[in-house]
Amino acid sequence: MANLSQEQTCPACGVTVANDVVQFSNGSTGTRARLYARVCQYAKKPECINQDKELIGVVLHEDGFMEAPPIKLG
Ligand SMILES: [Zn+2]
Repeated sequence: MANLSQEQTCPACGVTVANDVVQFSNGSTGTRARLYARVCQYAKKPECINQDKELIGVVLHEDGFMEAPPIKLG
């Protein structure tokens, strides 16, 4: 078998995934979990390639699920 890199571009989000490394449009890289947290969960399109929970794995807070900022009362 040829040693091809598995590069896919999500047609819904426009983000490239190569060998499970996500290349964001701003030049940074991340995991599928980060892509999901920041883009795919909002896109919610059936053609999105990053909807498989087993591939996405665990999404960490630092991947983009922002905690609600503390609200100052008073
Ligand atoms: Zn996507």
